[in-house]
Amino acid sequence: MEVVWLPADGAGIQRAAAALRAGELVAFPTETVYGLGADATSAAAVAGVFRAKGRPLDNPLIVHVTDAAAAEALGVEWPPAAAVLAEHFWPGPLTVVVRAATAIRVPASVRGGLDTVAVRCPDHSLARRLLAAAGVPVAAPSANRSGRPSPTTADAVAEALGEGRCGSAGVVWLLDGGPARIGVESTVVDVSGPHPVLLRPGGLARGAIERWVGPLHEPAAGGPARSPGMRYRHYAPERPLVLLALSTDQAVKRLRAWPAARTGLLAEHRVVQELQWPAVVDLGDTPDSAAAGLFAGLVRLDRWPGLDRLAAVWNNQEGVGWAVMNRLERAAAEVVRS
Ligand code: AMP
Ligand code: MG
Repeated sequence: MEVVWLPADGAGIQRAAAALRAGELVAFPTETVYGLGADATSAAAVAGVFRAKGRPLDNPLIVHVTDAAAAEALGVEWPPAAAVLAEHFWPGPLTVVVRAATAIRVPASVRGGLDTVAVRCPDHSLARRLLAAAGVPVAAPSANRSGRPSPTTADAVAEALGEGRCGSAGVVWLLDGGPARIGVESTVVDVSGPHPVLLRPGGLARGAIERWVGPLHEPAAGGPARSPGMRYRHYAPERPLVLLALSTDQAVKRLRAWPAARTGLLAEHRVVQELQWPAVVDLGDTPDSAAAGLFAGLVRLDRWPGLDRLAAVWNNQEGVGWAVMNRLERAAAEVVRS
């Protein structure tokens, strides 16, 4: 696609908002990752998102809104759990899945054909100003080609969707807001049933959510797929990735026997310090730094010349480490646990 960069100022926001209202695509920063947005009330606009991403049509999109009132105005049921979660965690990296009512304003394509809608209010000033200026709810998955790592910078969006990489025709307007602060997508909780169900670990930690709505349940096995997106391979680099879900010491020992010249390594600072690895991305010392560097690190190693595989070392479920673990497990061709 043709990527048109817009400045992160009032004029850029107005141009992007007009594009959304005209049914065009706008890539914009949020606190989690960059989104590829379209007017969520227009089936034609939303079709452009699926085309640009090469996204399966049964994988639903998250609708971005300015606040809880705008979420309710989509024409959904808004149970007490949705109200409580929105009150405590919006704006922020939490998506709630609620039931569509008869007044539903988003087409079935946004919902992947389901009777539910996923909504979120992002915590990013550019995103919020864009939503307010557009005056429409914005359906926005991550701005990558389907299945690939999510973009956390405007450059990564341009790489993913620009000429050559993306076969789709047309224009995507791109608002550059610098690197995304969190680096992994929102936590998705389904509150459309009798118990809250965790559909995807993400930027908001499990414990924070459970404080307000009690234990999060697992999706029912064998029942109808409540979140079709979870079936697809996701986040994967082009080269096969091996996840070493081991202690630091075990991982270091294991890696000393690896063909270092052909392997790209993504690991926390301590591991990086102990090994003199040639192609390496340092995820830092904390779950927060690892989340922020994860997707850009995977893309960087994937582009590194002369490598035939990637290895990641991660085994920390603390805070956003939970989501880092989930993304690496889903990106990996193989997981080593002992
Ligand atoms: P992304 O692909 O990063 O935009 O994440 C969106 C994810 O949210 C999807 O892959 C689904 O797993 C989930 N999701 C969106 N809408 C729904 C819905 N109506 N019901 C259940 N899950 C949903
Ligand atoms: Mg995505």
